[in-house]
Amino acid sequence: MSQLTRYILTETDIPKFWYNIAADSPVPPTPVLNPMTKEPVTPDFLSMIFPMEIILQEISAERYIEIPEEVREAYKLYRPTPLIRATRLEKLLGTPAHIYYKYEGASPSGSHKSNTAIAQAYYNKVAGTHAMTTETGAGQWGSALSMACKFFDIALEVYMVKVSYNQKPYRRYLMETFGAQVFASPSDRTAAGRGILAQDPESPGSLGIAISEAVEVAALSNGVKKYSLGSVLNHVLLHQTVIGEECLKQMDMAGEYPDMVIACVGGGSNFGGIALPFLRENLKSDRGTRLIAVEPKAAPSLTRGKYAFDYGDTAQMAPIVKMHTLGHDFIPSAIHAGGLRYHGMAPQLCALYDAGLIEAVAVGQVGTFEAAVTFAQTEGILPAPESSHAIRAAIDEALKCKQTGEKKVILFNLSGHGHFDLASYNRYLSGELEDYDFPEEAISTIEQRLPQVPSMA
Ligand SMILES: *Cc1c(COP(=O)(O)O)cnc(C)c1O
Repeated sequence: MSQLTRYILTETDIPKFWYNIAADSPVPPTPVLNPMTKEPVTPDFLSMIFPMEIILQEISAERYIEIPEEVREAYKLYRPTPLIRATRLEKLLGTPAHIYYKYEGASPSGSHKSNTAIAQAYYNKVAGTHAMTTETGAGQWGSALSMACKFFDIALEVYMVKVSYNQKPYRRYLMETFGAQVFASPSDRTAAGRGILAQDPESPGSLGIAISEAVEVAALSNGVKKYSLGSVLNHVLLHQTVIGEECLKQMDMAGEYPDMVIACVGGGSNFGGIALPFLRENLKSDRGTRLIAVEPKAAPSLTRGKYAFDYGDTAQMAPIVKMHTLGHDFIPSAIHAGGLRYHGMAPQLCALYDAGLIEAVAVGQVGTFEAAVTFAQTEGILPAPESSHAIRAAIDEALKCKQTGEKKVILFNLSGHGHFDLASYNRYLSGELEDYDFPEEAISTIEQRLPQVPSMA
């Protein structure tokens, strides 16, 4: 078969099922604890903030969960997304490796986040929800959920990390265009926000703080408002598996199979989305595909964090889960421009990482932006800084192949475009970005900052 550049599926190839790794994972799920009682959470606790269908998906062990027709209809706006062979990048690197990337930036809001935003808004609609809350960092999740909520006629309040709210107003305008209300977090609208402001009126905010605010508003609304999280949780990873399922078909069209699958990790959802269907194949047939999660050295939860029970948010209102964590009070360095700033990581991925079924590497931000610019100059797409962590790792692997002469097949997820991140590109291009490693002192104190949980946990 002659080599194509773009592997394009048709609408009928949009997956009809999400893949649930819980059915095949050799590692048992770890308990989720109520932040107040430190006992396993009950559906009652979760139903204050989530609709029942989402809770059932969160704890489901069913291998395949059918994608509702209305969700598939909305997916048709941008799915299937293209798989592209990066031939120009291969040529520039002079590598014998074949590099493919899945382009999730093709979605209307510019990232993979729409895959779960549409699903979560749909299940809320079906449950009769008229208003939702969420947090957002740089604004990709907020924009995806704003669009999805508008589609299903749900009002949305977004708590946006203050430093991004001030420095990246364009994502806020996009959210407002989709009809959402956006507040800078910490805000004075919640007890969590007021508590942080009392300690530090200049707090730049963090995802952990913004999650606390959004959860608090939903929890105190008497069931009127539901909360939605854009990463980390099992149901979010589940919804993202459309990425990997499409890739399996597209790699088949290309007549190749990846030796490695690479994606960046913030909370782990785009990595889970592309990698978990390939993990299923590994478990089934000894394919031996390496699954590589790439994180920033500035927020290295998998490679340097503690694997322990920690709160999902800063104000200790979200459930306690077992994950690789930098501590729930983590505030990312202002020097770091590349996103992926969450203090923890998806518990499902942490368990798989602990069991040696997936790998992780951390990369510095200067090398990450260098890779981003190389990619833009060869492939023409301006990548999101987050996605560029995956590009860095893919280029590094391709350069190793150049040394060894191996013709490996590399697949990475280009989780989004960077059209709203040009200020960060400008900082890189004008030489202002420096590498920043999360300091050892901060690692050594994580343990003291973790919650005490009963020993069964
Ligand atoms: C949010 C985001 C990420 C990180 O989140 P994950 O849940 O780890 O995927 C990565 N890339 C882009 C473009 C994003 O918007």
